[in-house]
Amino acid sequence: MKKFDYDLFVIGAGSGGVRASRMSAGFGARVAVAESYRAGGTCVIRGCVPKKLLVYAAHFREDFEDARGFGWQVPQATFSWPALIAAKDKEITRLEGIYERLLSNAGVTLLRGRARLVDAHTVELNGKQHSAANILIATGGWPVRPPMPGAELAITSNEAFELDALPKRILVVGGGYIAVEFAGIFNGLGSKVTVSYRGSEILRGFDDDIRQHLRSELVAKGIDVLLRHELVAIERNDASLRVRGADGNTFEVDAVMFATGRSPNTEGLGLEQVGVHLTDAGAIKVDAYSQTSVANIYAVGDVTHRVQLTPVAIREGSAVANTLFNQRPTAVDHSNIPSAVFSQPPIGTVGLTQSQALAQYGKVEVYQSSFKPLKHTLSGRIEKTYLKLLVEPVSQKVVGAHMLGADAPEIIQGIGIAVVAGLTKAQFDDTVGIHPSAAEEFVTLREKVLVVA
Ligand code: NDP
Repeated sequence: MKKFDYDLFVIGAGSGGVRASRMSAGFGARVAVAESYRAGGTCVIRGCVPKKLLVYAAHFREDFEDARGFGWQVPQATFSWPALIAAKDKEITRLEGIYERLLSNAGVTLLRGRARLVDAHTVELNGKQHSAANILIATGGWPVRPPMPGAELAITSNEAFELDALPKRILVVGGGYIAVEFAGIFNGLGSKVTVSYRGSEILRGFDDDIRQHLRSELVAKGIDVLLRHELVAIERNDASLRVRGADGNTFEVDAVMFATGRSPNTEGLGLEQVGVHLTDAGAIKVDAYSQTSVANIYAVGDVTHRVQLTPVAIREGSAVANTLFNQRPTAVDHSNIPSAVFSQPPIGTVGLTQSQALAQYGKVEVYQSSFKPLKHTLSGRIEKTYLKLLVEPVSQKVVGAHMLGADAPEIIQGIGIAVVAGLTKAQFDDTVGIHPSAAEEFVTLREKVLVVA
C-alpha cells in the first residue's frame, strides 16, 4: 500500500501543468491534474492560440488590398464576426480534446473542479481529499482591472474572444503585448480603435527603436494612440460608453478593453495556511527549480510571475518533472528568451535591448536597417520593416536582435538560436543570405554605430 494516492498532484491543466503531468507520468509517476475550467489553459482556450487566429483574420483586410497591386480584382469583401468566432471556438474545442487525450494517453488522471490545499500533502477537490507526495501549482494568471468607477463595464481579453458582435469603436487600455495585439485585431476587422497608454511610449521593456517604429505603424494604420493618457472613469451612455481621462476629456466608444497586465491566480488555494510564501506582487515565490518555501510543493508558469510566456511555463513544467522523477534536478535559464508580439506588423525579439546592453557593457555596436519590403513595391502599402543587431564591442558577440515587420516572429526564432549560442557578428556575416528575403538583412548589416552609455 503506497503512502500517498499520487506521486504528483498538479493544480491547473494549462501549458505548464499539462507538460509537467505528462512528463512525470512518462517517468513512471502516478499523476493527477485538477482543472476548474477547460484543459489547455489560457494559451489554448483564451490566449495565444485564439489570439493568433484572430490576428490572421484581421490581416486579410490588408491582404485583399495588397492583392490589387498584383493584378487581382478583388470584389468588396465582407466580414462576419460571428462566423470567425464560431470557427475559432470549433478549433479551440478540438484542441481541448487533444489536451484531454494527451493526458489520458499518458495515464494522467484529469479531475474536474477547483482544488485547494489542506496541508502540504493533501488537496481537496469537490469535497474529496487526495494525498500526494508532491504538489505542483500551475494555476496561471487572470486579467487585472484597474479600479475606477465603471471598471465593471469594460471587458478584458477573456471576454474579447466571446463578444457577440464586433464593437464599432473600442478603447484599448494599456500599452503591453495584449493591448497592441488586440488593437491590431480590432482595427484590421474594422473597428475604430483608440489605445490609451499611461506612459510615454508603448511596449515598455522592448527596444526603444522598436517601440517607436511600432507606434508609428499603428498610427499609420488608423489607430489613435493616446500617450500619457490616464483613464479615470467609464460611464454608460445609452448603448455606448463614455470614457473620461484624467485630463477631463471624454469621448464615446462601444467597448472598453483592459489590457493592463495579468495577476497570478493564488486566491483560494490555501497557500498561506500551508506555508507557501508569496512575493509582494502576490505571486508564488520559487527558486530556480520552481520549488516553493514548502519543500514538496512546486509552482510553474504565470502563477510565479517570472516570465509570462507559454514556452517558459512548459520548460518550467518539464524541469520539475525531471527534477522530481528523472533524477535530473533541472533549473530553467530565463535569459535570452525569444519572444514575439503579434501586432500588425509583428515584432520578434531576443536578447538585450539597446538600453539593457548599454547598462550591462557601457558600450554597444548598433547595426540597423529600415526598408520597404519587396512585397510592398507592388502593393503600394507604406509599411516599413525595421531590424537591429546589438553587438558587444569586445567579444563581438551578438547580444540582441530585434525586428518589426512581416514574419518577424518566424525569423527571430532562428536568430534566437544564434544569440543563445553566443555567436559573433563575424559569424553572422559568414552566413550567406537568402535572397530576396527580409531575413537576409541580418547577415548583411554593414553600417555600425558605436553607442556609449
Ligand atoms: P503587460 O504587462 O505586457 O502590459 C500591461 C500594460 O498595462 C502596460 O502597458 C502597463 O503600463 C499597463 N498598465 C498596468 N497597470 C495599469 C493601470 N492600473 N492603469 C493603466 N495601465 C496599466 O501585460 P498584458 O496584459 O499586455 O499581457 C500579460 C502578459 O501576457 C504579458 O506580459 C506577456 O508576458 C504575456 N503575453 C504574451 C504574448 C506574446 O507572447 N505574444 C501575448 C499576450 C500576452 P506600464 O508599461 O506603465 O506598466
